Amino acid sequence: MIRVDLRSDTVSHPSPEMMKAMAEAELGDDVYGDDPTVNCLQEKSADILGKEDAVFVASGTMSNLVAILAQTQRGDEVIVGSQAHIFRAEAGGASVLGGVNYHAVTNEPDGTMPAEGIEAAVRPDDIHMPPTSLLCLENTHNGAGGVAVTPSGTRAMTDVARAHGLRVHMDGARLFNASVALECPASVLVEDVDTVGFCLSKGLSCPIGSVLAGDASFVDEARKWRKIVGGSMRQVGIIAAAGIVALETMVERMADDHSNARRLAEGLANIDGIGLDLERVQTNIIRFSVPQNSGIRIASRLGDEGVLINPTRCGEVSLRMVTHYGIDASDIEFTLSVMSNVMSEIA
Ligand SMILES: *Cc1c(COP(=O)(O)O)cnc(C)c1O
Repeated sequence: MIRVDLRSDTVSHPSPEMMKAMAEAELGDDVYGDDPTVNCLQEKSADILGKEDAVFVASGTMSNLVAILAQTQRGDEVIVGSQAHIFRAEAGGASVLGGVNYHAVTNEPDGTMPAEGIEAAVRPDDIHMPPTSLLCLENTHNGAGGVAVTPSGTRAMTDVARAHGLRVHMDGARLFNASVALECPASVLVEDVDTVGFCLSKGLSCPIGSVLAGDASFVDEARKWRKIVGGSMRQVGIIAAAGIVALETMVERMADDHSNARRLAEGLANIDGIGLDLERVQTNIIRFSVPQNSGIRIASRLGDEGVLINPTRCGEVSLRMVTHYGIDASDIEFTLSVMSNVMSEIA
């Protein structure tokens, strides 16, 4: 029996209030721009982010893909972090569909890329080289363990981009986790970027959806690319309705996910064989190391006891746990007691 599912915050289910809003949503055909619920979510999102406009898309992956396709030409190069979701976990979509090259800059443990690294990655004007056109950031930074990047951390990177005339996109799949952790409005976190996407389907607990925001001409262009990738939907207010409720009711409560993650991380750090940097546990993601080659066995033994986590991917030495809506303090205690038993078996 599954007792605690810590694989991702994507496993969270909609709240009763979201279910009700979905059942009662006013609908229209969104390809004609006629769905009032989608329009409301888009306006509300743009407003919260301090951007001119926003467009509803099916997923975080689609928001990043459309953002890159709308801001590059075939043969361009985009700068990404070496641990970025765009680079490592989106099947090279912009390359496959847009003929765009990725240039990876090594991420720092705090989720940023060093300004010198970005500087060195920008291609000079030379017919041998792909033109650099876009810098992609991520906040919170999933690969770095859910760390929240501060406005000054972001500014140091966007300054380099501006000096070279690059546009900047932020993958803000968990932007609101960063906002809650830093006690900083989301609009301030994205002030220096041109475009930003956030997921409704992660900590905000919606069943489906992401929102991509930027200036009005970008959003027009993004709508066209959304059409090209097959992402235009019809009476999609049915899911946008949950997004509106999420923005109103699910943001502040993510502080609970963060304190549960903190409690879990402190407990894990006390278990022999687990390596964990508490400073990196800033939001709802915990990454920790286990003895070499034990990750798959640990994940499998936890699963036997009802605690689900993802097995390590090839080449990774760390395991991940993610807290979310539906995980409470007793689940954290249960997980720690199971983990403690499993680790003593492994030793
Ligand atoms: C989950 C995630 C995405 C992709 O979102 P999907 O909705 O799963 O496609 C993009 N970026 C980051 C940082 C993520 O964690």
